[in-house]
Amino acid sequence: MDLFGLLSDHQYGQVFVQVDPASGLRAIIAVHDSRLGPALGGCRFIHYDRDEDAMRDALRLARGMTYKAAISGLNHGGGKSVILKPRGEFDRKALFTSFGRFLEDLGGHYVTAEDSGTSMEDMETIRAVTKNVTGIDPKNGGSGDPSPFTALGVRRGLEACVEYKLGRKSLEGVHVAVKGVGHVGWYLCRELHALGAKLSVSDIDAARTQAAAQEFGATVVDNDTIHALGCDVYAPCALGAGLNDETIPAIQATIIAGAANNQLAESRHGDELHKRGILYAPDYAINAGGLVNVAAEASGAYNADASRAKVLTIYDTLFTIAERSAKTNIPTWKVSDTMAEERLAAASKKN
Ligand code: NAD
Repeated sequence: MDLFGLLSDHQYGQVFVQVDPASGLRAIIAVHDSRLGPALGGCRFIHYDRDEDAMRDALRLARGMTYKAAISGLNHGGGKSVILKPRGEFDRKALFTSFGRFLEDLGGHYVTAEDSGTSMEDMETIRAVTKNVTGIDPKNGGSGDPSPFTALGVRRGLEACVEYKLGRKSLEGVHVAVKGVGHVGWYLCRELHALGAKLSVSDIDAARTQAAAQEFGATVVDNDTIHALGCDVYAPCALGAGLNDETIPAIQATIIAGAANNQLAESRHGDELHKRGILYAPDYAINAGGLVNVAAEASGAYNADASRAKVLTIYDTLFTIAERSAKTNIPTWKVSDTMAEERLAAASKKN
Protein backbone atom coordinates (compact mmCIF):
# COMPACT_ATOMS: atom_id res chain seq x y z
CA MET A 1 0.00 0.00 0.00
CA ASP A 2 1.35 3.42 -0.96
CA LEU A 3 0.22 4.92 2.33
CA PHE A 4 1.22 8.53 1.80
CA GLY A 5 0.03 8.44 -1.80
CA LEU A 6 -3.34 7.24 -0.55
CA LEU A 7 -3.47 9.97 2.06
CA SER A 8 -2.56 12.64 -0.40
CA ASP A 9 -5.20 11.37 -2.89
CA HIS A 10 -7.81 11.99 -0.19
CA GLN A 11 -6.25 15.29 0.96
CA TYR A 12 -5.44 14.09 4.46
CA GLY A 13 -5.55 14.85 7.41
CA GLN A 14 -4.62 12.48 10.20
CA VAL A 15 -4.97 8.76 10.61
CA PHE A 16 -4.69 6.89 13.89
CA VAL A 17 -4.22 3.15 14.04
CA GLN A 18 -4.61 0.96 17.11
CA VAL A 19 -3.81 -2.69 17.63
CA ASP A 20 -4.69 -4.38 20.92
CA PRO A 21 -3.63 -8.05 20.99
CA ALA A 22 -5.54 -8.69 24.24
CA SER A 23 -8.98 -7.92 22.78
CA GLY A 24 -8.10 -8.52 19.11
CA LEU A 25 -8.87 -4.90 18.26
CA ARG A 26 -7.53 -3.63 14.95
CA ALA A 27 -8.97 -0.20 14.32
CA ILE A 28 -8.40 2.87 12.16
CA ILE A 29 -9.62 6.35 12.97
CA ALA A 30 -9.45 8.82 10.09
CA VAL A 31 -9.68 12.51 10.89
CA HIS A 32 -9.92 14.20 7.55
CA ASP A 33 -10.27 17.79 8.66
CA SER A 34 -10.73 19.46 12.03
CA ARG A 35 -10.71 23.14 11.13
CA LEU A 36 -14.37 23.51 12.13
CA GLY A 37 -14.11 21.45 15.32
CA PRO A 38 -13.67 17.91 16.59
CA ALA A 39 -14.16 15.27 13.92
CA LEU A 40 -17.50 13.48 14.03
CA GLY A 41 -18.54 10.34 12.18
CA GLY A 42 -19.69 6.78 12.64
CA CYS A 43 -17.81 3.59 13.42
CA ARG A 44 -18.01 0.71 10.94
CA PHE A 45 -17.57 -2.86 12.08
CA ILE A 46 -17.39 -5.09 9.03
CA HIS A 47 -15.14 -7.69 7.41
CA TYR A 48 -12.46 -6.39 5.10
CA ASP A 49 -10.51 -8.70 2.81
CA ARG A 50 -7.45 -6.49 2.95
CA ASP A 51 -6.19 -3.90 5.42
CA GLU A 52 -5.91 -1.51 2.51
CA ASP A 53 -9.67 -1.77 1.89
CA ALA A 54 -10.34 -0.80 5.50
CA MET A 55 -7.98 2.15 5.21
CA ARG A 56 -9.57 3.31 1.95
CA ASP A 57 -13.04 3.04 3.46
CA ALA A 58 -12.07 5.10 6.50
CA LEU A 59 -10.34 7.77 4.40
CA ARG A 60 -13.16 8.09 1.87
CA LEU A 61 -15.95 8.15 4.44
CA ALA A 62 -14.24 10.63 6.76
CA ARG A 63 -13.68 13.01 3.86
CA GLY A 64 -17.40 12.82 3.09
CA MET A 65 -18.17 13.72 6.70
CA THR A 66 -16.05 16.87 6.43
CA TYR A 67 -18.23 18.11 3.58
CA LYS A 68 -21.46 17.05 5.26
CA ALA A 69 -20.64 18.85 8.51
CA ALA A 70 -19.37 21.94 6.69
CA ILE A 71 -22.40 22.35 4.40
CA SER A 72 -24.69 21.86 7.40
CA GLY A 73 -23.12 24.67 9.40
CA LEU A 74 -21.87 22.33 12.13
CA ASN A 75 -18.78 23.06 14.16
CA HIS A 76 -17.38 19.63 13.49
CA GLY A 77 -14.74 18.19 11.28
CA GLY A 78 -15.00 14.97 9.31
CA GLY A 79 -14.01 11.68 10.84
CA LYS A 80 -14.80 8.02 10.52
CA SER A 81 -13.54 4.88 12.15
CA VAL A 82 -13.42 1.27 11.12
CA ILE A 83 -12.90 -1.71 13.35
CA LEU A 84 -11.79 -4.69 11.28
CA LYS A 85 -14.20 -7.45 12.22
CA PRO A 86 -12.26 -10.55 13.30
CA ARG A 87 -12.90 -13.70 11.24
CA GLY A 88 -12.92 -16.09 14.17
CA GLU A 89 -14.56 -15.88 17.57
CA PHE A 90 -14.18 -12.68 19.52
CA ASP A 91 -15.42 -10.95 22.65
CA ARG A 92 -17.52 -8.05 21.35
CA LYS A 93 -17.61 -6.24 24.67
CA ALA A 94 -13.83 -6.42 25.09
CA LEU A 95 -13.33 -5.19 21.53
CA PHE A 96 -15.57 -2.14 21.89
CA THR A 97 -14.20 -1.38 25.36
CA SER A 98 -10.73 -1.35 23.84
CA PHE A 99 -11.97 0.88 21.02
CA GLY A 100 -13.46 3.23 23.64
CA ARG A 101 -10.03 3.53 25.28
CA PHE A 102 -8.54 4.35 21.89
CA LEU A 103 -11.06 7.20 21.56
CA GLU A 104 -10.34 8.37 25.09
CA ASP A 105 -6.62 8.55 24.28
CA LEU A 106 -7.46 10.93 21.43
CA GLY A 107 -8.96 13.30 24.00
CA GLY A 108 -12.08 14.33 22.07
CA HIS A 109 -10.35 14.89 18.75
CA TYR A 110 -12.80 12.38 17.24
CA VAL A 111 -16.35 11.61 18.35
CA THR A 112 -17.89 8.34 17.21
CA ALA A 113 -21.43 7.11 16.53
CA GLU A 114 -23.29 4.07 15.20
CA ASP A 115 -22.70 2.98 11.59
CA SER A 116 -22.80 -0.22 9.50
CA GLY A 117 -22.26 -3.20 11.75
CA THR A 118 -22.39 -1.35 15.06
CA SER A 119 -25.32 -1.06 17.43
CA MET A 120 -26.56 1.18 20.22
CA GLU A 121 -25.38 -1.49 22.64
CA ASP A 122 -21.84 -1.12 21.24
CA MET A 123 -22.12 2.64 21.74
CA GLU A 124 -23.06 1.98 25.38
CA THR A 125 -19.97 -0.20 25.77
CA ILE A 126 -17.85 2.62 24.38
CA ARG A 127 -19.59 5.16 26.60
CA ALA A 128 -18.52 3.23 29.69
CA VAL A 129 -14.91 4.31 29.00
CA THR A 130 -15.22 7.62 27.13
CA LYS A 131 -17.69 10.42 26.63
CA ASN A 132 -16.60 10.86 23.02
CA VAL A 133 -19.55 8.98 21.57
CA THR A 134 -22.95 10.20 20.42
CA GLY A 135 -26.25 8.74 19.17
CA ILE A 136 -26.91 7.06 22.51
CA ASP A 137 -30.09 5.23 23.49
CA PRO A 138 -32.75 7.71 24.76
CA LYS A 139 -33.22 5.60 27.90
CA ASN A 140 -29.61 6.51 28.76
CA GLY A 141 -30.06 10.19 27.97
CA GLY A 142 -29.22 10.11 24.26
CA SER A 143 -31.08 11.33 21.19
CA GLY A 144 -31.74 7.84 19.77
CA ASP A 145 -32.52 6.89 16.17
CA PRO A 146 -31.41 9.71 13.83
CA SER A 147 -33.67 8.54 10.95
CA PRO A 148 -36.68 10.79 11.73
CA PHE A 149 -34.35 13.80 11.69
CA THR A 150 -32.76 12.67 8.46
CA ALA A 151 -36.23 12.31 6.92
CA LEU A 152 -37.28 15.74 8.18
CA GLY A 153 -34.23 17.29 6.52
CA VAL A 154 -34.89 15.44 3.27
CA ARG A 155 -38.48 16.68 3.30
CA ARG A 156 -37.27 20.27 3.81
CA GLY A 157 -34.67 19.98 1.06
CA LEU A 158 -37.25 18.46 -1.24
CA GLU A 159 -39.62 21.37 -0.51
CA ALA A 160 -36.87 23.82 -1.45
CA CYS A 161 -36.27 22.01 -4.74
CA VAL A 162 -39.99 21.91 -5.52
CA GLU A 163 -40.32 25.62 -4.84
CA TYR A 164 -37.23 26.47 -6.89
CA LYS A 165 -37.84 24.17 -9.83
CA LEU A 166 -41.62 23.93 -9.99
CA GLY A 167 -42.53 27.25 -8.39
CA ARG A 168 -44.78 25.45 -5.92
CA LYS A 169 -44.79 26.51 -2.28
CA SER A 170 -46.73 23.47 -1.12
CA LEU A 171 -46.30 19.73 -1.58
CA GLU A 172 -50.07 19.27 -2.01
CA GLY A 173 -50.51 17.00 -5.02
CA VAL A 174 -46.77 16.83 -5.80
CA HIS A 175 -45.96 13.30 -6.97
CA VAL A 176 -42.92 11.79 -5.23
CA ALA A 177 -41.50 8.34 -6.04
CA VAL A 178 -39.64 6.92 -3.04
CA LYS A 179 -37.25 4.03 -3.65
CA GLY A 180 -36.61 2.21 -0.36
CA VAL A 181 -39.04 2.51 2.54
CA GLY A 182 -36.69 1.52 5.34
CA HIS A 183 -35.96 3.75 8.32
CA VAL A 184 -35.58 7.07 6.51
CA GLY A 185 -37.85 6.25 3.56
CA TRP A 186 -40.68 5.40 5.90
CA TYR A 187 -40.40 8.59 7.93
CA LEU A 188 -40.05 10.57 4.71
CA CYS A 189 -43.30 9.08 3.37
CA ARG A 190 -44.96 10.04 6.63
CA GLU A 191 -43.73 13.64 6.31
CA LEU A 192 -44.75 13.91 2.66
CA HIS A 193 -48.15 12.28 3.17
CA ALA A 194 -48.94 14.72 5.97
CA LEU A 195 -48.33 17.56 3.51
CA GLY A 196 -50.60 16.13 0.82
CA ALA A 197 -47.98 14.71 -1.55
CA LYS A 198 -48.96 11.83 -3.83
CA LEU A 199 -46.67 8.85 -3.19
CA SER A 200 -45.35 5.97 -5.26
CA VAL A 201 -43.04 3.55 -3.48
CA SER A 202 -40.83 0.55 -4.16
CA ASP A 203 -38.60 -1.68 -2.07
CA ILE A 204 -37.12 -5.17 -2.31
CA ASP A 205 -39.10 -5.93 0.83
CA ALA A 206 -42.78 -6.24 -0.16
CA ALA A 207 -43.91 -5.98 3.45
CA ARG A 208 -42.48 -2.45 3.63
CA THR A 209 -44.26 -1.24 0.51
CA GLN A 210 -47.53 -2.86 1.55
CA ALA A 211 -47.31 -1.10 4.89
CA ALA A 212 -46.64 2.23 3.11
CA ALA A 213 -49.65 1.64 0.85
CA GLN A 214 -51.83 1.05 3.86
CA GLU A 215 -50.47 3.84 6.03
CA PHE A 216 -49.93 6.59 3.44
CA GLY A 217 -52.13 5.54 0.50
CA ALA A 218 -48.93 5.05 -1.55
CA THR A 219 -49.04 3.27 -4.91
CA VAL A 220 -46.63 0.33 -5.03
CA VAL A 221 -44.56 0.34 -8.23
CA ASP A 222 -41.91 -1.86 -9.81
CA ASN A 223 -38.58 -1.52 -8.00
CA ASP A 224 -36.48 -1.89 -11.16
CA THR A 225 -38.21 0.95 -13.01
CA ILE A 226 -39.29 3.38 -10.28
CA HIS A 227 -36.56 5.81 -11.38
CA ALA A 228 -38.30 6.07 -14.77
CA LEU A 229 -41.72 6.88 -13.36
CA GLY A 230 -43.51 9.97 -14.67
CA CYS A 231 -43.49 11.94 -11.42
CA ASP A 232 -42.31 15.29 -10.05
CA VAL A 233 -39.64 14.08 -7.64
CA TYR A 234 -37.59 10.90 -7.51
CA ALA A 235 -36.39 10.18 -3.95
CA PRO A 236 -33.70 7.46 -3.74
CA CYS A 237 -33.76 6.21 -0.15
CA ALA A 238 -32.19 2.75 -0.49
CA LEU A 239 -28.65 2.17 -1.71
CA GLY A 240 -26.00 4.37 -3.30
CA ALA A 241 -24.84 4.60 -6.95
CA GLY A 242 -28.42 4.50 -8.27
CA LEU A 243 -27.82 7.49 -10.55
CA ASN A 244 -25.71 6.02 -13.33
CA ASP A 245 -25.37 5.52 -17.09
CA GLU A 246 -28.26 3.06 -17.12
CA THR A 247 -30.81 4.91 -15.03
CA ILE A 248 -30.25 8.59 -15.91
CA PRO A 249 -31.52 8.48 -19.52
CA ALA A 250 -34.83 7.04 -18.29
CA ILE A 251 -35.47 9.53 -15.49
CA GLN A 252 -38.58 11.64 -16.11
CA ALA A 253 -38.71 13.54 -12.82
CA THR A 254 -37.22 17.03 -12.91
CA ILE A 255 -36.07 16.79 -9.29
CA ILE A 256 -34.02 14.13 -7.51
CA ALA A 257 -34.13 14.54 -3.75
CA GLY A 258 -33.61 11.54 -1.50
CA ALA A 259 -31.77 10.23 1.54
CA ALA A 260 -29.42 7.62 0.10
CA ASN A 261 -25.68 8.22 0.47
CA ASN A 262 -23.41 8.40 -2.58
CA GLN A 263 -26.28 8.53 -5.08
CA LEU A 264 -24.09 9.51 -8.03
CA ALA A 265 -22.17 6.50 -9.33
CA GLU A 266 -19.52 9.05 -10.40
CA SER A 267 -19.37 12.84 -10.31
CA ARG A 268 -19.85 12.96 -14.07
CA HIS A 269 -23.37 11.62 -13.51
CA GLY A 270 -24.11 14.79 -11.58
CA ASP A 271 -22.91 16.74 -14.63
CA GLU A 272 -25.21 14.66 -16.81
CA LEU A 273 -28.26 15.38 -14.63
CA HIS A 274 -27.43 19.08 -14.80
CA LYS A 275 -27.20 18.92 -18.60
CA ARG A 276 -30.60 17.27 -18.71
CA GLY A 277 -32.15 20.04 -16.61
CA ILE A 278 -32.75 17.77 -13.64
CA LEU A 279 -32.30 19.44 -10.26
CA TYR A 280 -30.26 16.99 -8.17
CA ALA A 281 -30.20 17.65 -4.42
CA PRO A 282 -26.64 16.72 -3.37
CA ASP A 283 -27.00 13.71 -1.08
CA TYR A 284 -24.75 14.81 1.75
CA ALA A 285 -26.44 18.22 1.93
CA ILE A 286 -30.03 16.95 1.96
CA ASN A 287 -29.49 13.88 4.19
CA ALA A 288 -27.59 15.66 6.98
CA GLY A 289 -30.53 15.88 9.42
CA GLY A 290 -29.41 12.85 11.41
CA LEU A 291 -25.88 14.24 11.68
CA VAL A 292 -27.24 17.59 12.86
CA ASN A 293 -29.13 15.73 15.57
CA VAL A 294 -26.22 13.60 16.82
CA ALA A 295 -24.00 16.69 16.75
CA ALA A 296 -26.50 18.42 19.04
CA GLU A 297 -26.29 15.45 21.40
CA ALA A 298 -22.48 15.55 21.26
CA SER A 299 -22.53 19.20 22.33
CA GLY A 300 -23.74 17.98 25.74
CA ALA A 301 -26.86 20.17 25.83
CA TYR A 302 -29.33 18.21 23.73
CA ASN A 303 -32.66 19.83 23.01
CA ALA A 304 -34.88 18.09 20.45
CA ASP A 305 -36.72 21.31 19.49
CA ALA A 306 -33.50 23.22 18.86
CA SER A 307 -32.17 20.30 16.87
CA ARG A 308 -35.36 20.16 14.81
CA ALA A 309 -35.11 23.90 14.13
CA LYS A 310 -31.57 23.45 12.85
CA VAL A 311 -32.63 20.56 10.60
CA LEU A 312 -35.33 22.78 9.09
CA THR A 313 -32.58 25.06 7.72
CA ILE A 314 -31.70 22.34 5.20
CA TYR A 315 -34.39 24.09 3.17
CA ASP A 316 -32.21 27.22 2.91
CA THR A 317 -29.10 25.24 2.06
CA LEU A 318 -30.82 23.42 -0.79
CA PHE A 319 -32.48 26.57 -2.09
CA THR A 320 -29.11 28.35 -2.18
CA ILE A 321 -27.49 25.41 -3.97
CA ALA A 322 -30.25 25.37 -6.60
CA GLU A 323 -29.98 29.14 -7.10
CA ARG A 324 -26.18 29.16 -7.37
CA SER A 325 -26.25 26.24 -9.76
CA ALA A 326 -28.75 27.97 -12.05
CA LYS A 327 -26.92 31.31 -11.93
CA THR A 328 -23.48 29.88 -12.63
CA ASN A 329 -24.52 26.91 -14.78
CA ILE A 330 -22.48 24.65 -12.51
CA PRO A 331 -23.89 21.26 -11.45
CA THR A 332 -25.36 21.18 -7.94
CA TRP A 333 -22.88 18.57 -6.63
CA LYS A 334 -20.05 20.93 -7.48
CA VAL A 335 -21.79 23.99 -6.05
CA SER A 336 -22.33 22.11 -2.80
CA ASP A 337 -18.67 21.05 -2.61
CA THR A 338 -17.61 24.63 -3.26
CA MET A 339 -19.91 25.98 -0.53
CA ALA A 340 -18.49 23.46 1.95
CA GLU A 341 -14.93 24.34 0.89
CA GLU A 342 -15.66 28.05 1.30
CA ARG A 343 -16.72 27.47 4.90
CA LEU A 344 -13.58 25.41 5.55
CA ALA A 345 -11.38 28.07 4.00
CA ALA A 346 -13.02 30.76 6.16
CA ALA A 347 -12.30 28.62 9.23
CA SER A 348 -8.61 28.31 8.21
CA LYS A 349 -8.34 32.09 8.09
CA LYS A 350 -9.74 32.42 11.60
CA ASN A 351 -7.36 29.80 13.05
P1 NAD B 1 -32.59 0.96 5.98
O1 NAD B 1 -31.72 -0.23 5.87
O2 NAD B 1 -33.44 1.11 7.19
O3 NAD B 1 -33.57 1.04 4.72
C1 NAD B 1 -33.19 0.74 3.44
C2 NAD B 1 -34.43 0.22 2.72
O4 NAD B 1 -34.07 0.02 1.35
C3 NAD B 1 -34.93 -1.12 3.25
O5 NAD B 1 -36.33 -1.10 3.38
C4 NAD B 1 -34.46 -2.13 2.19
O6 NAD B 1 -35.35 -3.24 2.07
C5 NAD B 1 -34.50 -1.26 0.97
N1 NAD B 1 -33.61 -1.73 -0.10
C6 NAD B 1 -32.39 -2.31 -0.01
N2 NAD B 1 -31.90 -2.57 -1.23
C7 NAD B 1 -32.81 -2.12 -2.10
C8 NAD B 1 -32.87 -2.08 -3.50
N3 NAD B 1 -31.90 -2.58 -4.27
N4 NAD B 1 -33.97 -1.54 -4.07
C9 NAD B 1 -34.98 -1.04 -3.32
N5 NAD B 1 -34.98 -1.05 -1.99
C10 NAD B 1 -33.90 -1.58 -1.39
O7 NAD B 1 -31.63 2.21 5.79
P2 NAD B 1 -31.92 3.73 6.17
O8 NAD B 1 -31.34 4.02 7.49
O9 NAD B 1 -33.35 4.04 5.91
O10 NAD B 1 -30.99 4.46 5.10
C11 NAD B 1 -31.38 4.56 3.74
C12 NAD B 1 -30.32 5.32 2.97
O11 NAD B 1 -30.15 6.61 3.54
C13 NAD B 1 -28.92 4.68 3.00
O12 NAD B 1 -28.27 4.94 1.79
C14 NAD B 1 -28.24 5.43 4.13
O13 NAD B 1 -26.84 5.41 3.98
C15 NAD B 1 -28.81 6.81 3.93
N6 NAD B 1 -28.77 7.64 5.14
C16 NAD B 1 -29.41 7.24 6.26
C17 NAD B 1 -29.39 8.07 7.38
C18 NAD B 1 -30.13 7.69 8.64
O14 NAD B 1 -30.33 8.56 9.50
N7 NAD B 1 -30.56 6.45 8.79
C19 NAD B 1 -28.69 9.28 7.36
C20 NAD B 1 -28.04 9.67 6.16
C21 NAD B 1 -28.09 8.83 5.07
